[in-house]
Amino acid sequence: MSAPTRETGSATTGRGARVEVRGVDQRFPAASGEVHALADVSLDIAPGELVSLIGPSGCGKSTLLRCVADLVQPTSGEVLVDGQSARAARLAHRYGIAFQAAGLLEWRTVRRNVELPLQLHGVGKAERRARAEHLLELVGLADVADARPSQLSGGMQQRVAIARSLAEDPPLLLMDEPFGALDEMTRERMQAELLSLRAASGTTVVFVTHSIPEAVFLSDRVVVMSPRPGRVVDVVPVTGEGGLERTGDVREAPAFFDRITAVREALRGGSDDTGGGRGGVEDR
Ligand code: ADP
Ligand code: MG
Repeated sequence: MSAPTRETGSATTGRGARVEVRGVDQRFPAASGEVHALADVSLDIAPGELVSLIGPSGCGKSTLLRCVADLVQPTSGEVLVDGQSARAARLAHRYGIAFQAAGLLEWRTVRRNVELPLQLHGVGKAERRARAEHLLELVGLADVADARPSQLSGGMQQRVAIARSLAEDPPLLLMDEPFGALDEMTRERMQAELLSLRAASGTTVVFVTHSIPEAVFLSDRVVVMSPRPGRVVDVVPVTGEGGLERTGDVREAPAFFDRITAVREALRGGSDDTGGGRGGVEDR
């Protein structure tokens, strides 16, 4: 698969972006005073790494992703993408986003939704169409390319949004529970697709999920967050020396279960005061 040519001149080594989150604190004004969403979050994500964020509902996972995407500005601290501010990275189209709400444009066909980012950045019609067709094939939606978003199921809409987020072969992919609405079979297929896509493109991925097995299946490292205000309570390595190898049936590998246990224990450790243990995190 060939990436559309990019005319941004930013110097980057390799395809994936480096992400540095430094002491990010996020507070939102609320009727009851304020909501303290994130407390002193720091993370270093290497180019090409796939890192998942996991933690109880409301612990600030989406907020953290939105900080990286420059959709909200941290109250204090900073986010750097390849050494640039998140704002500069956004303006240079350094990333693709697939968030929970699919956000598709109803007046455009599925195909033209996927083409949109390319069109906005001046990619020619033939190239954009070929790219959209390839991506729709990848997510199994080639046969509904001419439909409107509302004619598709929620899971299919989500897949269109994923295809769109990949349109520019971005150095940084930000995904917020992108597979949550999919049935189990499709979800597993999309997980495998994400891994092969990442292997082919070297893109960095920051992935939010509720599912411990999904986090372990996909990630190089799993970042475990505490209940609100979200802090990083643990970072569980998955791949690397002595870790999970992505060959054969990963879901049957002893290392897979071992890493699942490690993440689950980290979540318990960070949830002492919720009474409910894992609070909102799926165990399967
Ligand atoms: P998660 O994705 O982990 O479930 P969120 O990041 O969505 O958590 O939310 C963390 C907390 O911040 C929640 O209490 C949420 O209500 C609050 N929050 C998120 N965005 C805003 C906002 N724009 N204004 C006010 N409160 C917000
Ligand atoms: Mg969320």
